[in-house]
Amino acid sequence: MRRYHARQCQQPACGLRFPVAVDQALGESCPRCGAPTSISGEPYHSEEARALGDRAPGLALELLVDNVRSLRNVGSMFRTADGAGVQAIHLGGFTPTPEHPKLAKTSLGAEQSVPWTYARDGVARARELLTRGYRLWAIEGGPRSCSVYELPRVQPNKPVALVVGHEVSGIDPRILELCEQIVRVPMLGLKGSLNVSVAFAVVAYHLRFVTSN
Ligand SMILES: [Zn+2]
Repeated sequence: MRRYHARQCQQPACGLRFPVAVDQALGESCPRCGAPTSISGEPYHSEEARALGDRAPGLALELLVDNVRSLRNVGSMFRTADGAGVQAIHLGGFTPTPEHPKLAKTSLGAEQSVPWTYARDGVARARELLTRGYRLWAIEGGPRSCSVYELPRVQPNKPVALVVGHEVSGIDPRILELCEQIVRVPMLGLKGSLNVSVAFAVVAYHLRFVTSN
């Protein structure tokens, strides 16, 4: 595991503090002002949450990503899906797939551990998930939506497929009408919604570790 130490700029008006890998001969001058820096404190390494005995409760969770344009958002959702024990990701419409070479930049390889499918018609894929016994839960706002923090407890024997849609126009109405539940993440500020991959992370982790626990 790579070790780091903190360096700090010796110019009092600057004082920038930043990490440098111990095996790297970088950072002797401040990246902000160019003054000399010095090492501050003992070397350390980044801690992983993995292998601390976290267990996934029984709820089977999948994800339908229909017409999400951004590679970063899709890559980020693969990484989150891997962490939250999501069993499969179904990509629809113009959503980029892991065949795109740049997707791994944000997924950090999670597309290797989360199985995925691709369908040109996301509505057809949504219907297929229904026939496989999945309940479809849209992540979206609007008057029909229920806050993720007010959801009833989930019965683990009834699998759920979360649905996210286009960053601007939202979920296709033909998919939305197939959804049993519309789940929103509460918004207290000026903006009407979170980034789609962040909203998915909030809902997936809540369902996985709180609501179905
Ligand atoms: Zn400096």
